[in-house]
Amino acid sequence: MQDTGRRSALVGIAIVALSIGLFVGIAKIGGGAFVDAQRSRELGGYAELVLRRAELEVDFSIVALSELAQNGVTDCSPQSLAAMRRHVYERSTIKDIRIVDGSLGATQCSAFSETLAFDTQPLEIEAFRSRNTAIQLARLEQHSGQAMSVYWEVDDGVTLAAVVNTAALLFAILPHELRDYGEVRLELADGSAVAEYLTQRDDAIDPQMVELTAVSERYPFTARIGVSRSVFKAWNRGPERYFLAVGGILGLAFGGLAAGVFVRRPDQTSELDRALAAREFRPFLQPIVALDSGQIVGCEVLARWMKADGSVESPLRFIRKAEDSGRIVPLTAFLVSEALDHLRPWMSKRRDFKAAFNIYPGHLMADGFVEEFKALVDNAGVPRGQVVIELTERHELTDLAAAAERIVELRVNGFKVAIDDAGTGHSGLSYLQRLGVDIVKIDKLFVDSIESDHSARVIVDMLVRVAGKLGMKTVAEGVERPEQVAALKVCGVDEIQGYLISPALPPAEFLRLLHAAAEPGAREPVPEALIA
Ligand code: C2E
Ligand code: CA
Ligand code: CA
Repeated sequence: MQDTGRRSALVGIAIVALSIGLFVGIAKIGGGAFVDAQRSRELGGYAELVLRRAELEVDFSIVALSELAQNGVTDCSPQSLAAMRRHVYERSTIKDIRIVDGSLGATQCSAFSETLAFDTQPLEIEAFRSRNTAIQLARLEQHSGQAMSVYWEVDDGVTLAAVVNTAALLFAILPHELRDYGEVRLELADGSAVAEYLTQRDDAIDPQMVELTAVSERYPFTARIGVSRSVFKAWNRGPERYFLAVGGILGLAFGGLAAGVFVRRPDQTSELDRALAAREFRPFLQPIVALDSGQIVGCEVLARWMKADGSVESPLRFIRKAEDSGRIVPLTAFLVSEALDHLRPWMSKRRDFKAAFNIYPGHLMADGFVEEFKALVDNAGVPRGQVVIELTERHELTDLAAAAERIVELRVNGFKVAIDDAGTGHSGLSYLQRLGVDIVKIDKLFVDSIESDHSARVIVDMLVRVAGKLGMKTVAEGVERPEQVAALKVCGVDEIQGYLISPALPPAEFLRLLHAAAEPGAREPVPEALIA
């Protein structure tokens, strides 16, 4: 009897040990592959970032050239040359503007003619056409290094060219662990580099490189990132340890449950339905502050899921599922009426206060969206002009023309429309122009490094400038440090949002913050020293 007991205990331990061994083994192989794939994705993300920055620089040059063409600057008269020089002076990314014969013939004149002698360009220019065939790009060899010419063929046979400074594009792209062992290149369609970052270290040359590329859909260039294989392999392996630990725990659990029952987890969609019915979602409100006055002029409504165990779930973990399953429609309706109920008294006193809601493109384009949204806001008793609809640039709008029509419809009905996460999407500045919105929200990605990274600063500068030209306001997101406020002010950003002021708060707390900030003599959310 005792013997049988001991034997079954031993068998049990053996099963558990075997199961742990099996799971740890799988975790080692699977975890390694997963971490490799994740690292590659991360590296690919840096290539994408180079590409986005380069695309924005070209966009920006085209905006500058079309402005010149609109003002009749298509000849080499002294007035035209003066206008060209002023444009160069005003823009940090454009080194020179030139007028070229017909389709890339001889250079007729340059804003700074004396600098033409510094180019070591062969007579025959090799240029590559973009998706928009009026735009061509070419590599330009200058004494100060590589640059890029952006040619834009104006209708009447004249071509304007902007010489773009590409050196800043690659600045601080790679994380510092890889910077000494990596290379970054921006290449034209023939593989020639218009910008190049090479490691300075002698011991960094590894014949085996891990290489990732990103190819632009709009312009004929490719961003290429290469990192020494051995350094890449050793980079940030921390997560692998978690896999082993998790493997061990899983093995233990599985072994323990070897004879147990498999508990079926409810799927996430029915979990969402249950949570909606149980009213577990809450709108949290994050203040938006005007930089000229330091006052809170609005808020963004962000979804939170208050779990029964008291924890708060981030929207990053459920919004995607809600969007894919269509549950975003009732969820948005709930958040809008709930948030506006709390804000109504304040908004009726402060007619310039705006509440912004995130609407994902699939929902925007759904039949009857405008009518439903109107009914929601009207029922809440809040003027439509105080409601902003934020549309993210992260998901691509498949039918830009139809989306632009929807946006017109919303604006005709009194709503304000914002483009969210501007600068991160695939469509660049033309998106802003085509969609015709009221507000541009500049993504945290660029705000994060604005004090230290020149090209982030250039992008914010460009977005503000283009938004200004199109009559749009700008809001910078994810502002965490006072130094960022100073840099954003210099760029001319109108409003800011971020942890420096406050995270998203439950409505009651947000209203307390609003009242406290409005008290006479209250300290303003952004210290006066930063605003003045
Ligand atoms: P988003 O629209 O870009 O919202 C800004 C996100 O940045 C929010 O994250 C906010 O809490 C966070 N944030 C704000 N300031 C700072 C800062 O200074 N530092 C840092 N590190 N983060 C900051 P959250 O609330 O987790 O929302 C994530 C995303 O989920 C949102 O990004 C939005 O795309 C989506 N989302 C949230 N609520 C809704 C909703 O009701 N409907 C839809 N369709 N999407 C939503
Ligand atoms: Ca948003
Ligand atoms: Ca955003």
